[in-house]
Amino acid sequence: MNIVSGTFKALYAALRQLPRRRMTMRYPDVQTEMAGYYTYDPKLGIAKPGYKGRHILWLDKCTGCQLCSIACENISQAIEMVKVNRNQPNNKKSIFPQVDYAKCVFCGLCVDACPFYALGMTEDFNLVSTSKSNLVYSPEKLAIPPKITRKKVEFKIEKELAYHE
Ligand code: SF4
Ligand code: SF4
Repeated sequence: MNIVSGTFKALYAALRQLPRRRMTMRYPDVQTEMAGYYTYDPKLGIAKPGYKGRHILWLDKCTGCQLCSIACENISQAIEMVKVNRNQPNNKKSIFPQVDYAKCVFCGLCVDACPFYALGMTEDFNLVSTSKSNLVYSPEKLAIPPKITRKKVEFKIEKELAYHE
């Protein structure tokens, strides 16, 4: 293929896309809606489907049993149990999980391992930071529910896919 016909073919391919609706979103102005928190019911042994973004820690339920940290040990060692100045009768040692998102692979095994309904995962995936230390979320930081304001996505992916069939 010479350079002239190659250029025309590329131009033709680009022009053909002009009347089509775009397949991608204008992130961050438009963001897709997520399925809600990922949680696990240890009594039923059933996971509630949801997005596996950054964790949420319900401090009052956490007993400091460390099972989440043990579950992560052979995955990425992202959880460290740290002391928090809290007087909580169900957590005598006052230790709670802290998550390093520079290491976490968002597998959710720590959530599945928690027997006390203290840990879940939220729809927050936007953890961008210029500093590694900002990716370490203390228990108190994990306890704050993320503020997520997402506009509803208007395009229908099924429709777009059908267009190309
Ligand atoms: S989601 Fe997976 S990698 Fe991340 S802290 Fe939990 S067990 Fe570790
Ligand atoms: S979050 Fe759950 S598994 Fe982890 S220390 Fe607290 S109670 Fe134990």
